[in-house]
Amino acid sequence: MKRVMIISGAGLSAESGIRTFRDHDGLWEEYDVMQVCSTQGWEDDRALVTQFYNARRKDLKDKIPNAAHQAFALLEQRYPGQIIHLTQNVDDLLERAGCKAVIHLHGTLRDLRCEECGHTWDIAYEAQNEHDACPVCESDRVRHNVVMFGESAPEYAKIYAAIAESDFFIAVGTSGQVIDIVPIAAEFDHSLIINPKREEHVTAFGSFEKRIDEYFEHFIQKGASASVDEMLGLIADHLG
Ligand SMILES: [Zn+2]
Repeated sequence: MKRVMIISGAGLSAESGIRTFRDHDGLWEEYDVMQVCSTQGWEDDRALVTQFYNARRKDLKDKIPNAAHQAFALLEQRYPGQIIHLTQNVDDLLERAGCKAVIHLHGTLRDLRCEECGHTWDIAYEAQNEHDACPVCESDRVRHNVVMFGESAPEYAKIYAAIAESDFFIAVGTSGQVIDIVPIAAEFDHSLIINPKREEHVTAFGSFEKRIDEYFEHFIQKGASASVDEMLGLIADHLG
């Protein structure tokens, strides 16, 4: 069976008003990223980090999925079992658009996690309180469920599984700075990148070779929601 592997990133949700650390009007200016998104920052000041994620969760509540989120939900329905969607986003906009099988590579904003037993639970858009305890083991070692700099991302193993199982790779709204999409594209005969900007690919040695889109078969130089019709067309051509 033919399958399509999708990796989506911040650009997908930016169009719904989810701010990112990489935007110019983004969170970098309000927060020090290493304070709020690293294991060291978490050790140094758990209250500050908790406050940061509480604000992100509250902010998410009023956001709505855009046309690209909806297109991905449509794809899941139209091609059951043939779409493997991995997202770097921690929001729930794909699920709210109707997606059921999204793999969250960097965790989920709505969930809390027990550091003692590993249990995760959904608190929707509520704030985590200082004295919240794990509903399973009652430990008060409770944290947000977003992968931090300095810790491993267990879901990354699913990237390799998805490469092995699919024959068309789509990267949407990701600059390739967190997950290098170039070596992934190299594994595929058929690939598509959707990005309004032409980003340079910087190798592990820091040298610039080509632009990221030059490693892909197809390039749509537009935002995610403006690309929906072209993307659906290419997928229909491929999956038949
Ligand atoms: Zn627990």
